[in-house]
Amino acid sequence: MPDHSTRHTDGIQPRRKAKVAANCSTCEAVCCRLTVTLGPEDNIPSHYTTYLPNGVHVMAHGEDGWCVAMDRTRMNCSIYENRPTICRRFVMGGPYCNAIRSDYAKQRSRNIEITLK
Ligand code: SF4
Ligand code: SF4
Repeated sequence: MPDHSTRHTDGIQPRRKAKVAANCSTCEAVCCRLTVTLGPEDNIPSHYTTYLPNGVHVMAHGEDGWCVAMDRTRMNCSIYENRPTICRRFVMGGPYCNAIRSDYAKQRSRNIEITLK
């Protein structure tokens, strides 16, 4: 099963489809909850980044689960012009965009059910 916790730009095609068409303007920036690995070509200020226990350099996340570079008011990237390469390659409406939005919608509906019980 593909790991949707990390941003992928390879050709693996998740089979799940999101029920709602992709639209970054109305999305809760779900892809900005994924682990974004950084490469040598990325020039991100160090206060936005961290290292995993295995030494991989990644974008840091806040306690709310979103990337620390995300503007919580506008729900968009505050370093858009300088965002990591892997973020530039992430395709709106692509297989991973659809898969993670579907996963996120299911998780949210489960949380709502738990809250209502
Ligand atoms: S690329 Fe997909 S998951 Fe990311 S903000 Fe846009 S619609 Fe949402
Ligand atoms: S760097 Fe920007 S586009 Fe990339 S995950 Fe963080 S907020 Fe989202």
